[in-house]
Amino acid sequence: MSRSVLRIKGTLLLRQDRFSLQKAAGIIKEGGLVAFPTETVYGLGAAATDEKAVNRIYQAKGRPVDNPMIVHISSSGQLNIVARYVPEIAYKLTDRFWPGPLSLVLPRADIIPAAVCAGLPTIAVRMPDHRIALEFIHASGVPIAAPSANRSGKPSPTSFRHVLDDLAGKIDAVIKSEACSVGVESTVLDLTGSGPVILRPGGIPREELEEALGQKVPVSGGIGSAGRPISPGMKYRHYSPRAPLILITGPKQRRSLLLKAIAGYYQEKGLKVGSLGDYINKTAPLKGNKTEYMAAHLYHALRQLDHHGVDLILAEETDIAGIGLAVMNRLRKAATRILKV
Ligand code: AMP
Ligand code: MG
Repeated sequence: MSRSVLRIKGTLLLRQDRFSLQKAAGIIKEGGLVAFPTETVYGLGAAATDEKAVNRIYQAKGRPVDNPMIVHISSSGQLNIVARYVPEIAYKLTDRFWPGPLSLVLPRADIIPAAVCAGLPTIAVRMPDHRIALEFIHASGVPIAAPSANRSGKPSPTSFRHVLDDLAGKIDAVIKSEACSVGVESTVLDLTGSGPVILRPGGIPREELEEALGQKVPVSGGIGSAGRPISPGMKYRHYSPRAPLILITGPKQRRSLLLKAIAGYYQEKGLKVGSLGDYINKTAPLKGNKTEYMAAHLYHALRQLDHHGVDLILAEETDIAGIGLAVMNRLRKAATRILKV
């Protein structure tokens, strides 16, 4: 096997063989940063126990330091290492949904520096459903703190190319893999209050959580009773392409009419207008469930529309059943304007 080393602006591009994953783990042990694939989006990982390494993540991403990271583990047994206390309900959820796109917010153990969690006494933790991610975390021998591997504010990366576009030269390595299959981030579920609350909709649908727990699971508006954001990252404009994005909501027929009217108006002025829905439908064949398909292609489409130099992106509301709730959440955060017809 050839072991030639490919670097892009100094960032190592690693393959998925055992030798390369050991190399990635070695970088983590030395306090470096490695971007790695998961089933949701690419993560930018550092040893979660190493405060200096974690601070390098904030710098590389240009991430506000009050936006906490998710800690990734390779077996549910490690839950007790990163969380000070694990309630019974957490095991009910991990039994059913791990490995998978569900992050649980629990009391933070002292072994995890406060910087990982933006100073909060809590920690978000998950076990990804991705063979390479699990091998990499296991080989590193520590829990891995990892936000999404994009420049802060930009659409999350679902391919190693997106990671290189944003972070080549700023991080030590990226592990090359297939595009991430789920395509949007994990569901963040707070278990530190009187009942479970979704802080961020994501890969595990609300309906499935409710079915597993036999109770209603509310979605937080993001603001706690004291007026403080309880899931700090959610207050920022996020997932945004360079071009302004107009999100159109309302009944389907009226949405489509308005979209066509806006597109026509700006095209007449000589602007390049991209429709997100049309772009996704044209570039990838529809497979399976329509909202899951939309989730899987959302971030790539936003990035590609930017590459094509569009001046304006138009998007329509999607069904909020299942993963559609996460898609709509991301579209709302990416939008510069939301129009209701
Ligand atoms: P990212 O990894 O970029 O998707 O960002 C992780 C997100 O998880 C943050 O922006 C927060 O919304 C959420 N999160 C992480 N840790 C916590 C925590 N301790 N409490 C509440 N929300 C959290
Ligand atoms: Mg992110």
